[in-house]
Amino acid sequence: MIKPKFPIFLPDATYGSVKSTTFNDLKEIGTPGVVTTTLHIENAIGSEYIKEFGGIKKFFGWENLLLTDSGGWQVFSLINSKGASSKNKATEAGCSFVDEKTGKQRLLTPESSIQIQYNLDPDILTVLDFPILGNATFAQRKECVRINTVWAKRAKTAYVNTYGDSSGKLLGAVIQGGNDFELRKQSAQELLELDFDLYNFGGLPLHTPITWKTKSEEGFYHEMLQYVSELIPSSKTKYAMGVGQPTDIAFCVDVGWQIFDSVLPTRNARHGYLYVSEGQGEETKSYKNLSHDILRVKKEDYKFDEKPVDANCKCECCTTVSRAYLRHLIRINEPAGFRLATIHNLWFYQRWMEKLN
Ligand SMILES: [Zn+2]
Repeated sequence: MIKPKFPIFLPDATYGSVKSTTFNDLKEIGTPGVVTTTLHIENAIGSEYIKEFGGIKKFFGWENLLLTDSGGWQVFSLINSKGASSKNKATEAGCSFVDEKTGKQRLLTPESSIQIQYNLDPDILTVLDFPILGNATFAQRKECVRINTVWAKRAKTAYVNTYGDSSGKLLGAVIQGGNDFELRKQSAQELLELDFDLYNFGGLPLHTPITWKTKSEEGFYHEMLQYVSELIPSSKTKYAMGVGQPTDIAFCVDVGWQIFDSVLPTRNARHGYLYVSEGQGEETKSYKNLSHDILRVKKEDYKFDEKPVDANCKCECCTTVSRAYLRHLIRINEPAGFRLATIHNLWFYQRWMEKLN
């Protein structure tokens, strides 16, 4: 098992690649690991195939850390967007849904999610969780937390039955409870009793203007992340799933979170939204004594700009092309432009994480 130096940021290799890059690009950047999406891999090519090939890391040609999610997030997003129906629903038994690509009815359970991940053979596995969606009532939210714990227990049993006692892997459980402090506490306590290696902060991003106890500027979102982190002993690894703004990550590291993943740097890169060092862009974002700028390279301002995206950056993008040329490539949706911008943003994130060490 690879043991990286925390904190780490893992880009999302959703369908089997970090969009617009190669795994060799990631090696050049120094990316310590990636997250891959279990259900997308299962639907696109099949975990049995990956098992036969020799595992997902061999398939990707990737030697660093690889973390798989449980597939639950994709299914719950589908149920949330389409509405629960006889074909798309989550019950205590599992998630029943119609695969949009194949049209086939599928069932994802805590046990089948572990089996799929076993076939993929990552370093870190995640148990199937039961997120709280939409405007659930308190009773519904409480029921979600209950099922989440039942599923975690079933997944752990399946994991032990599959791997035995010495897997050499890590298994993460997902703390749910939505915006409710007491439910988050209950979820954390129940999952801690089941003894997992990782504890993940789960659920929808909690960006709300409400500030509670600390009255901090960032408000509720930061307060909840701090609250949940403090419920987990420091002997456990803490993973703030989906927290992706560099300043939010800096806050989370301060309060104990160690692993991060998000599509933000890669998705934003493809829209020409670039993270640069302070003084290089148009807008500054800060957390304590750490600052960076945002540069929106598609803007008219950069049409004749011969400078690199970030004069302080040593990535392939900043050492080879001008802002003007990158602007052109992205404006015409040229994959080479997406690749260069993505390399830059991931390079920026990697150096940012090194500052937080
Ligand atoms: Zn760069």
